Amino acid sequence: MAKKEFQSESKRLLDLMINSIYTNKDIFLRELISNASDAIDKLYYRSLTDKKLKVDKDDLEINLEFDKDNRVLVITDNGCGMTKSELEENLGTIAKSGSLSFKENMTKDEKIDIIGQFGVGFYSAFMVSDKITVLSRSVDSEDAYLWESEGADGYTIKKSKMDGHGTKIELHIKENTDEFEYDKYLNEYELKQLVKKYSDYIRFPIKMECTHHELKDEEKHEYEDIKEIETLNSMVPIWKKPKSEVKDEDYENFYMDKFNDYDKPLKVIHSSVEGMTSYKSLLFIPSHAPYDYYTQEYEKGLSLYSNGVLIMEKCADLLPDYFSFVKGVVDSEDLSLNISRELLQESQSLKLIAKNIEGKIRKELESMLKSDREEYINFFKTFGVQLKYGVYNNFGQDKDKLKDLVMFYSSKHEKLITIDEYVKEMKEGQESIYYASGASISKINSLPQVEQVRDKEYDILYLTDYVDEFCITALQEYNGKKFANVSDGNLDLDTDEEKEEIKKTNEDNSDLLEAMKKEIFDVSDVRFSNKLKSHPVCLTTKGDVSIEMQKVFDAMPNDMGIKAETVLEINEKHPIADKLKKLYKKDKDEFKKYTKILYSEARMIAGLPIDDPTEISKLICEVIAK
Ligand code: ADP
Repeated sequence: MAKKEFQSESKRLLDLMINSIYTNKDIFLRELISNASDAIDKLYYRSLTDKKLKVDKDDLEINLEFDKDNRVLVITDNGCGMTKSELEENLGTIAKSGSLSFKENMTKDEKIDIIGQFGVGFYSAFMVSDKITVLSRSVDSEDAYLWESEGADGYTIKKSKMDGHGTKIELHIKENTDEFEYDKYLNEYELKQLVKKYSDYIRFPIKMECTHHELKDEEKHEYEDIKEIETLNSMVPIWKKPKSEVKDEDYENFYMDKFNDYDKPLKVIHSSVEGMTSYKSLLFIPSHAPYDYYTQEYEKGLSLYSNGVLIMEKCADLLPDYFSFVKGVVDSEDLSLNISRELLQESQSLKLIAKNIEGKIRKELESMLKSDREEYINFFKTFGVQLKYGVYNNFGQDKDKLKDLVMFYSSKHEKLITIDEYVKEMKEGQESIYYASGASISKINSLPQVEQVRDKEYDILYLTDYVDEFCITALQEYNGKKFANVSDGNLDLDTDEEKEEIKKTNEDNSDLLEAMKKEIFDVSDVRFSNKLKSHPVCLTTKGDVSIEMQKVFDAMPNDMGIKAETVLEINEKHPIADKLKKLYKKDKDEFKKYTKILYSEARMIAGLPIDDPTEISKLICEVIAK
């Protein structure tokens, strides 16, 4: 029979896996057991609504068998099974995303990262086996099929026979090598240990024939080997156990298995709530963003159980968007098993649980921020954008819940601080919370407008994420202190005397300023200013839309034509101010050139494009060639 090839990406992945860059080979067993348990879950859940399916709950089980002489380990389940096309689809493609980036000479960490991107799954069995057969019969079919593969070079599928539905996976275990004793997977004691360690919470019995030595004759000291089927797992879901009985390692193993992560979670939140609605929840904050987190494909949600039975894999209603990174399970006896998705959404119990969970996660983050700042900053660097997005999303309805969780870079402390910390350190007489936005910290540092505020020894929050300014705009104020953009034309830092002085300068030169404005018609104003120290010019804005916000709007697919109202400000103390005044009197042509060059400079500093760079570069050359 012709061998079918794995997809090319799958093949490379399989190569990585087989060549065992993943150091913990043991996990293959938990992956296979977890697939078996999922398959039984699917069948059981279907049987609740599909009366034609006759399923006896007590018959559902997973079996392990091993044959040391033939080096075979068998994992069998009587779950939903797979049809021929499901076998092809599920076991013929490893990387469903189709966008894994392989590089030559990858480091070990990069390789593990790639494997982590899709979860190790079924294929991890190739770390310990040189041949795998999967015999499966779907509940929807009379036929069984046998899938067989010896690794990266492909697989075959043929029709076969099987009593009843389910899946039987036979692993031919590799020979021992100098580095690794594969024999451990053919050993009763080791297998028992592995099940206990990784799969204890599985809801269905994992059975294996075990051997006991039993005393046959006390006087003669004669023993007899008794074979007996044993259930290896306690079957109590980990979230139903009292916290005191669960070790950190158990939580971590459960998380990594259930949510396909290769890293431990950053935080575990295990709670048991009794009251109007009773439920148990086990939540995890991942230590890194899932590979598809910032894509359309990512689906938020918690696994929802009704007294131990899975009713929904990803219940989105249990998590607000701003906590969409949280993974976990919720189990409540108050939810009926047969409830439809639509009714579930309307359920008061579910709404109450969702509300509690939101509060729980928030409290946990607040306390992390207080007690372990370093950890919180790690968290914030990964998921902070989501929180800031939460502040302005839905017209800012959740902003009060989130305002103490967001952080921004402080120019004074040169690290992330909260708004509360900023406000507590405000100088006497300081009215506003100053912020500046730009593409990076160093770019903001060199903004002309920043200089003046820093000179007055005010701290400035630096906004470098595209969501930041929207977040600040939604907040409007914090404890009565308004936010003020240092690039706002109305930023009021001058003394009364300074204000008078600059007002007069502008009045005296109104013709000149008007003439400049004519040359560069897309600004709404041109004025002399004393807010600049060493720089000749800068661009500020009037109104609600700042330059950085305009850039975000410009980058949107449906350009709504929202523009910032810009003001060209000229440093009144800079020699260029005098030069302009002279040229305005003596040489109007030259004056126009200078105006255009200065305006382009201001745009450049603000990170805005220049309409006609060729013209400007020609003008600059004309001026400097003189
Ligand atoms: P994952 O479990 O993360 O989806 P796997 O590679 O482990 O990835 O499995 C791929 C798919 O194969 C599963 O999603 C499931 O549909 C199917 N599958 C695996 N094992 C079984 C099984 N024992 N019974 C039924 N279906 C299975």
